[in-house]
Amino acid sequence: MLLLSAKPVVEKLNHEVFLRVKEVTKKLGRAPKLSVILVGNDPASQIYTSKKGEAAVKLGMLHESHHLPASVTPQEVKKLVDRLNEDPTVDGILIQRPLPKSFIEEEVVYWVDPSKDVDAFHPENAGRLVLGLPCFRPCTPHGVMEILDHYGLSVSGKTACVIGRSSIVGKPLGSLLLQRDATVFQCHSKSPDLKKIAASCDFLFVAVGRMGLVGQDYIKKGAVVVDVGIHRNAQGKVVGDVLFDEVKDIAQAITPVPGGVGPMTIAVLMQNTVWSAEKRAVKSMK
Ligand code: NAD
Repeated sequence: MLLLSAKPVVEKLNHEVFLRVKEVTKKLGRAPKLSVILVGNDPASQIYTSKKGEAAVKLGMLHESHHLPASVTPQEVKKLVDRLNEDPTVDGILIQRPLPKSFIEEEVVYWVDPSKDVDAFHPENAGRLVLGLPCFRPCTPHGVMEILDHYGLSVSGKTACVIGRSSIVGKPLGSLLLQRDATVFQCHSKSPDLKKIAASCDFLFVAVGRMGLVGQDYIKKGAVVVDVGIHRNAQGKVVGDVLFDEVKDIAQAITPVPGGVGPMTIAVLMQNTVWSAEKRAVKSMK
């Protein structure tokens, strides 16, 4: 069984981004900048945002964090985003989720200017992805594709089952696989015969958010299994949606949790931020 570890993939991507940051810094006369907005005191979100900032700085980029209290109104946050949209020194803007209940997600996704939308959540970027047009890469799904590419696992002409249809993981992952000529079964909580479909596919992608949902009866012998889920179990151990020990001897290849899909998200966010700066550098030369 091939263990699809993120480590070498992240190292390769980070090295490429580091070199691109150096180049674009010369052209722009400043380093690319990522602005992160965090609302409230969710401990996991605080960890995620600080990791994103650390990654940016490590790769030679600038990072600014706007930490606002949970009591802030959506209008106040929108005003801040408007200001960052207008700021020519900001290349990427990210609003950390989850937001307090007073925020309406369907409205928030329109706030960040599509040209600075490094999370690729804006409907313009989501639509461009489906149409196969150039756009920011949705961080987690694109991270999955980078893992497959690194390990030489082509989905072309193969069957792929995606369990999950969220806007940030399941749906964009289905689009990316389709673009690579996979035959995609997009499954979800209402799918009939889920196990049967999953167990018939060459590739299985699990993005459900249910600890240990997927056991051996979901796996075709020799399948490639990608586990997007992240949970902490009762023993405090980080685990995924897939029962790794049950599946590892049936699968041809599998992503570990932790150390699989998780670290890819920030690596792709860094790629997106440098790409945004590169586009700005081209415009500033015209
Ligand atoms: P979500 O809750 O938005 O979506 C879950 C999807 O799973 C839904 O489409 C739902 O229809 C489907 N589903 C729910 N129960 C099901 C069942 N019993 N059978 C089949 N389908 C079912 O979740 P999300 O944001 O897509 O995240 C999924 C998981 O991935 C979570 O564990 C999350 O923590 C993790 N995640 C990891 C990263 C990362 O690694 N960087 C990024 C995003 C999400």
